[in-house]
Amino acid sequence: MKPAPFAYARARSLEHAIELLGESEARVLAGGQSLMATLNMRLSSPHLLVDINHIHGLSEITRRGAAVEIGALVRHAQAENSELIRREAPLIARALPHVGHPAIRNRGTVCGSVAFADPAAELPACLLALGGEVEMAGANGRRVVKADEFFRGLFETALEPSEVLTAIRVPAATPDTRVGFAEFSRRLGDYAIAGLAACARAYPNGLGDVRLAFFGLGVTPVRARLAETALTGTLDEERVATAVAALEQDLTPHDDVQASGKLKKHLAGVLLRRVIQQLAEPL
Ligand code: FAD
Repeated sequence: MKPAPFAYARARSLEHAIELLGESEARVLAGGQSLMATLNMRLSSPHLLVDINHIHGLSEITRRGAAVEIGALVRHAQAENSELIRREAPLIARALPHVGHPAIRNRGTVCGSVAFADPAAELPACLLALGGEVEMAGANGRRVVKADEFFRGLFETALEPSEVLTAIRVPAATPDTRVGFAEFSRRLGDYAIAGLAACARAYPNGLGDVRLAFFGLGVTPVRARLAETALTGTLDEERVATAVAALEQDLTPHDDVQASGKLKKHLAGVLLRRVIQQLAEPL
């Protein structure tokens, strides 16, 4: 299928992009890895694509205080090969090889994945598990939204149509940071049937600040708050079993084209057990 006709504009600067996005039915074009598919399938028919690929200053991965910042034009492959990401954002480093295939990761952007907010995507769940934040710029200036408030519904976020997502930030890992990542997909690179990104802190009396973000199990990435509470403290089999049982209330996955809700819930328990083993190990 061919896309519906659309106009194209190359933004010279962030301000120019925001001005162009003020027009009705305009859409940001980043890596195009999801957008072009939705246009070709006519799931979306914007009048104008605003290409942000030539805006300077959006392609950096930087340390900002206690956070790692990933700019809007950082490609998945760039993040995958980044020593800073490997060292200070290890959860994202573990998730990236599962995002599509190398050709997709060469073009697709980390922030594009967050903006698109596919409920089965890895990086939105990582952002949520890490308690990160999203920076956006629009006609009224810049604003920052916490990951917990960013994902609103199916492919729906706090991002306004006239805003550009300029960066995401996640807390930089410290020696007591623990992370875990696991997913089930039919083939490596496929969207997950079910997945889990997790982050916690190691205290002398066991795990604390546990954040579990499941993906492929709801219309957004989902925190499993009862399981998080159950895992707080010294890890033993009883605590693990309680956390797995808590998923019964934490998650209400529906059937989709890949699997039944019942199977997804079973997979969530299996994933949680795998991820708990990773959370028990220092980075
Ligand atoms: P685009 O396609 O350019 O844009 C996607 C959407 O986000 C558009 O609506 C666009 O307007 C908006 N957008 C993008 N950037 C911004 C911004 N800075 N500000 C405001 N809005 C913005 N992803 C996974 O997570 N896991 C997978 O397993 C996976 N498998 C894939 C398999 C295939 C075959 C393909 C084609 C894609 C797959 N993807 C997968 C999607 C891929 O990760 C995309 O790169 C990502 O979803 C979007 O990033 P992008 O830069 O290409 O964004």
